[in-house]
Amino acid sequence: MKKKIRKQLILIAVLSVVLTMLSVLLVFYHVFTQQVKHELRDTAHILGTMENREPGSISEQDYLTEELRITILDEDGSVLYDSTTDYLYLANHGGRPEVKDALETGEGYAVRRSDTFSENAYYYAVKLNNGGILRVSRQASNIFSVFLSTIPVMAITGAAVVFLCVLVAGFLTRSLIGYIEKMAENVGNNDENIHTYSELKPFVETINRQHEAIIKNARIRQEFTANVSHELKTPLTVISGYSELIENGMASDADVVRFAKEIHKNSSRLLVLINDILRLSELDTESLKATYEPVDLYDVAKDCVSMLTLKAKDGNISILLKGQNALVNGDRRMLEEMLYNLVDNGIRYNEPGGSVTIDIEEKKEEILLSVSDTGIGISPEHRERIFERFYRVDKSRSRETGGTGLGLAIVKHIVENTDASLSLESEPGKGTCIRIIFPKTTA
Ligand code: ADP
Repeated sequence: MKKKIRKQLILIAVLSVVLTMLSVLLVFYHVFTQQVKHELRDTAHILGTMENREPGSISEQDYLTEELRITILDEDGSVLYDSTTDYLYLANHGGRPEVKDALETGEGYAVRRSDTFSENAYYYAVKLNNGGILRVSRQASNIFSVFLSTIPVMAITGAAVVFLCVLVAGFLTRSLIGYIEKMAENVGNNDENIHTYSELKPFVETINRQHEAIIKNARIRQEFTANVSHELKTPLTVISGYSELIENGMASDADVVRFAKEIHKNSSRLLVLINDILRLSELDTESLKATYEPVDLYDVAKDCVSMLTLKAKDGNISILLKGQNALVNGDRRMLEEMLYNLVDNGIRYNEPGGSVTIDIEEKKEEILLSVSDTGIGISPEHRERIFERFYRVDKSRSRETGGTGLGLAIVKHIVENTDASLSLESEPGKGTCIRIIFPKTTA
């Protein structure tokens, strides 16, 4: 990356130096030729007016330099005088563009290859009062020699600019990449002292946010693993202890039955626990959305009521189902599980003689499901946390009633996967109501 940025910066520098020099040369050339044209015109006009002056007041010799050539022609273009060549050898100049123009309009200008000197030359011709033509000219080689003299200066300046650019490019890439490297070393370190380029701030913030999320996730996973091990350990210790007693013949016949019952209870608990853990990891990794279909929540609730009626009767709790048929988009097994966990909690954290009510209402833009109970309620300090994995307000009550501490975590997961939202109202001693709002299915 460093090399690439540096290469591109140097390329841009070289290109801009070359382009700048070319444009300077072009402008220079234009100004210079204009200058030559004006000089030739002025000289031609001055020389042209001399024929009216006192003879010898201005000598033609004053104007004759190596660079300047003066030619005098009569009205039909025959050469009467030439300052650099013997005029007798010169052909008729009447056809030359500058002479033609001068004969027609009074003056003419041309740039072309001189037949006499085989070099490019600038010509300016004016018509004299006697009808003849005075022409002054200058060779282009003189002009190009001026350009040639500028080339070393330009080349040195260009090389110096390119060299400077190479240095600056190196410095810029080093400082930019150096900053990114420093940033990479300090991911998650929100130290404001690390000099921040404002353009990189959103990038740094996103990386820091993701870094925090990764750390948080890792912490949650670590806690979860520790909790799982702990939760598995308790029933396994019981099973191992009782089976050891039976194995050593230390249990009477009556004890064996009691111990077998405990072993059975704890192994069932292990199965439920493992089932819940597997379910959560499935919900974490699986993308079930492809299998979603319109599911009638009321039908699901009816099944759920029939599955839990016996358990409710045991606790002297009644289950009521209110509302109407309503379709939501989701996975039927997931929705059953969600409702089962909610009603099951309503029964388990209730008082004898209490009730659990399921209500399904179809609103204009959403489907509303509520599960309310007349149970023990949840005090405010626990309300936020009961959806966390393994969080229980009263551990022994949860365990005695067959809870794993994972039911509401599974509910929350399913709600999120179904694009629904969840809210909780509860009053200790009076009861709890959990409301879930589903978006209406488009089917
Ligand atoms: P558990 O298997 O322990 O019931 P959950 O995740 O279903 O686990 O619930 C977490 C905790 O939230 C429970 O241990 C209980 O303390 C509390 N809780 C859940 N539902 C209710 C309810 N309807 N009434 C009172 N407390 C509840």
